[in-house]
Amino acid sequence: MATLLPQRFGMDSLPDTVRICEVSPRDGLQAEALTLSPELRAQLITRLAATGLTQIEAGSFVSPRAVPQMSGTAEVLAALDLDAHVSYPVLVPNHRGLEDARAAGAQDVAVFISVTDAFSRANLGDGLEVTTARAHEVARSAVASGMRVRGYLSMVFGDPWEGSVDPQRVVTAALGLLEAGCASLSLGDTIGTATPGHVSAVIEALLAAGVPVEAIALHTHNTYGQALANVYAALQLGVSEFDSAAGGLGGCPFAGSATGNLATEDLLWMLQGLGIDTGIDMRALAETSHWLAAQLDRRLPSATSSAIVHQ
Ligand code: MG
Repeated sequence: MATLLPQRFGMDSLPDTVRICEVSPRDGLQAEALTLSPELRAQLITRLAATGLTQIEAGSFVSPRAVPQMSGTAEVLAALDLDAHVSYPVLVPNHRGLEDARAAGAQDVAVFISVTDAFSRANLGDGLEVTTARAHEVARSAVASGMRVRGYLSMVFGDPWEGSVDPQRVVTAALGLLEAGCASLSLGDTIGTATPGHVSAVIEALLAAGVPVEAIALHTHNTYGQALANVYAALQLGVSEFDSAAGGLGGCPFAGSATGNLATEDLLWMLQGLGIDTGIDMRALAETSHWLAAQLDRRLPSATSSAIVHQ
C-alpha cells in the first residue's frame, strides 16, 4: 500500500509558512498522571527536534510540589544542544523561576497570565492585577538579559467560572504583554470552547488595536472538536504560529472540562494539504507520538497519528 499524504491544494490567501510551537514536553506532560524522568523528557525533546520542529517547550521552573511532572527541568536543558537552531522556551511563573531558567542556560522563556480574574485566582493564586503585574516584571527582566519571551494568555475564549470573555479584555491583556517585551502572544483557548467566528472576532480586535499579526499565536484545545477549524479561521487572518502537542497530549489540570491540545500530526496533515510549509517530517512525528504513548502507557487521541502508523 502506498504511503498516503494529503493532496496539496494551496490557497493564495493563506500564509506560505507556519511555525509550530510543540508543547507536549511541558503543557502536555504536566497534565499526565505519570511523571516522566528528566532523561525521558530530554529524549522526547530530542526526538521532536529530529522531526524538524524548531520551537519546543522544554519544561517549566515552578515549584516541584505544585507540578511534580516538571521537576528536573534544569537536567532536561542540560541534556539538550541549546545552540542548535531550535528554541526551547521554558515557563517561568516568577523571578525565582526566571533565575533558575537563566542559571540552566535557557535563552527562551514564557510567562503566563490569565485574561479572567477567576482563573487568575484559581490557577495563579492571586487577583488579576497582581498576577499580571508579576508576569510583566518577569518579562521585562528576561528581555533585559537578552532572552526572548513568549506570553501565554489563558481563558481567552471562555472561562469555566465567568463564562464568556469580552474580546476587549484580551486586547488589554495582549497590549500589556507586548509593552512588557513579549515577542509572541499565545492566545489560549484553555477550555476549548472557541468556534471559528469567535477566533476571527478576537484576532480582528487585536489587529485593530495595533497588535502585529506576526506576534499572534493560537493555542487550541480540541474539547469540542473545533481546534482545526479555529486554526483555519486564524490562518485566514494571516496568523502563522500555532501551538500543538504530539499525539494530542495534554489538557489543563486546573480546568476540569479541558481535554487535549490540538495534535501536531492533525495540524500538519491540514497544513500539508493546504500547501503550507513547516519543514516537519510527519511520519517521524507520528512515530514519536507512538513512542510517547508507550512511555505513558496510554493511547493518544491524534486521528492522523493512528491513521499513519496503521498504514
Ligand atoms: Mg494546552
